[in-house]
Amino acid sequence: MKTAVYSLMIMTVILTISCKNEKPAPVEEKKTEVKISKDQIDETIRKVKEIYTDEQAFRIEKGVNQVAALWKESDGDAQAFETFCIDNFIADSAGLLVAYNKLERNFEILFGYFNTMTVSLMEPLHLDMGDIHFVDNIMGAYSASSHLTEDLFANKLAFYVALNFPSYSLKEKSENADKWTRLDWAYARMGDVFISRVPADLLQSASTATTNADTYIADYNIFMGNLVDSKQNTFFPKDMVLITHWGLRDELKSNYNSEGGLEKQKMIYNVMLRIISQEIPQEVINNGDYQWDPIANKMYKDGKETSFTPEPYTRYEHLLHTFKTLSAMDPYNPVYPTYIERAYDQSMELTQKEVEALFTEFMTSPEIAEVAKLIKSRLGRDLEPFDIWYDGFKARNSLNEDELTVATQRKYPTPEAFEKDIPRMLYDLGWTRDKATYIANKISVDPARGAGHAWGAQMKGDVSHLRTRVGEKGMDYKGYNIACHEMGHNVEQTLTLYDMDYYMLCGVPNTAFTEAVAFLFQSNDLKLLGKANPSNKEESDALAALDNCWSAYEIMGVSLVDMYVWQWMYKNPDADPKELKEAVEKIAIEVWNKYYYPVFGVKDSPILAIYSHMITSPLYLANYPVGHLIEFQIEQYVQDKKFADEITRMLLQGKVIPQQWMKGAVGREISGEPTLTAVQKALKIIR
Ligand SMILES: [Zn+2]
Repeated sequence: MKTAVYSLMIMTVILTISCKNEKPAPVEEKKTEVKISKDQIDETIRKVKEIYTDEQAFRIEKGVNQVAALWKESDGDAQAFETFCIDNFIADSAGLLVAYNKLERNFEILFGYFNTMTVSLMEPLHLDMGDIHFVDNIMGAYSASSHLTEDLFANKLAFYVALNFPSYSLKEKSENADKWTRLDWAYARMGDVFISRVPADLLQSASTATTNADTYIADYNIFMGNLVDSKQNTFFPKDMVLITHWGLRDELKSNYNSEGGLEKQKMIYNVMLRIISQEIPQEVINNGDYQWDPIANKMYKDGKETSFTPEPYTRYEHLLHTFKTLSAMDPYNPVYPTYIERAYDQSMELTQKEVEALFTEFMTSPEIAEVAKLIKSRLGRDLEPFDIWYDGFKARNSLNEDELTVATQRKYPTPEAFEKDIPRMLYDLGWTRDKATYIANKISVDPARGAGHAWGAQMKGDVSHLRTRVGEKGMDYKGYNIACHEMGHNVEQTLTLYDMDYYMLCGVPNTAFTEAVAFLFQSNDLKLLGKANPSNKEESDALAALDNCWSAYEIMGVSLVDMYVWQWMYKNPDADPKELKEAVEKIAIEVWNKYYYPVFGVKDSPILAIYSHMITSPLYLANYPVGHLIEFQIEQYVQDKKFADEITRMLLQGKVIPQQWMKGAVGREISGEPTLTAVQKALKIIR
């Protein structure tokens, strides 16, 4: 359900080479040559300064340094560099505005049409257009824009932008946030476009490393029917095969109310521990030939114990390789010189320090221990480490899903029927009839092959796409529920493109925000269907608060482990996979003992290290808990206000930094307090 995001940064060529090799290839050491010397930079700055007033000193220094950091030998010699800077620096504000407007127009054309091309080329893959042909696959994977960035360096436009629109670090943006005008923000976003120039071979090896890690996890299945206890008893269906860690975790969650559930949960927990420690027999991964007792760690063939080879730290070899390929790009990223800074400061636009503080404050709040007590009494037993996945706070829907499906199928027999109804839905959510029609006219509803997604336009004049599955009998309730979520994305995409004051400010700060808005629309689905039941609202709100709190607590710990492991790898770049494994276990246990042991009463569990994201999506995990908090804050804020007015007002802030967006949206920065306050209330209602 991710929206398609498009920007120059991600349009950089990333060649994905799918490789089935389990062993990562070694990374070549790569040295960077300094192209323009410090003396030459200083000399150029002096010469440009001679021409203009002192007022321009800051921009001149920043701009010239930025151009120098991006300049390669092939762009010209030191003299060419100096001449370029002297000839192209713009000192007067009127001239700068003209340049901005022209650049903005050109970027909208480039991003807009490239996006339209991609959407159209991928249609045979995304829409139900018959059998997928060889040509469809080739052209669906083809990226027409992949050479754009290099082209813009070659024709010097990238240097022109870098020289005149300085890039600001997150720290500088935060310091200036309160005094910057909308135009200042637009200039700052223009300055973000060209801040690195990573060689294509490095991008390619990083992409290969993550693809290999992905393949490793995708093929990491456990044959559940082959798990046995010391008496050779089996517990799971013969044909059950689960992927680490999502499949294992979801099965663990589903056993909270089943007979013998606790035994099964303990078994799954031990499988997870063996994966983390790599004591798992290599022979039982993705293979159903043996029986395995994960508690005693013994393997059997036809009931007879047999010897095995433990997995040779492959999990950590992938993580190390990803670290090496991503940190190899450090010298080409002058503004954010480590991958940790690129993941936090650049992508999330929150510093690692502030994310850490946000999480640890939340995790040590007294409400967490209260919720744990409640879970303990609901379970009627002491807590086990795997109860971080306690699943008992889901509101039971009093409405039968089949009945809802009858209603949605009748209402929406085709995608067109849903499209036609969008103006009415937006009107019901509080937009005026005119505005509802205006937004709806820019959304096209298409029949999807898969579950559905929303794909925004990148230029005015184009439409955004709502992709949803409509069966032969019409749209079922699940499809309708997802369609409401995607419609939220489309409304956001439309308002932040068409009604935005500056093109460079289109969008929202990061994916957590776009998802928060989409979930708000999704949670109105029954109301829009005329089936809302306000009588159990108090209870379902209370359960939602408890659920939000417990799942945020769980994934915050996982995110801290991810964060500390990356810090460790930067401190120990020459570590081998075994050393990394030991460090990951140590870090996971430290986080556990600090933030979970006081609540659970169980010491030394490394369970927080099981997440597959750690291996496949480097440093992405922190986005989830931040998203949980943002979503809850916005939801609480709008609940007694006019939905359409508030959402529109929030969205039109555009792509400023997250903390500034939140201050403008709800009056305060990202915080766990609204969740915790709601939890206090919920604890009085739910027993
Ligand atoms: Zn979504």
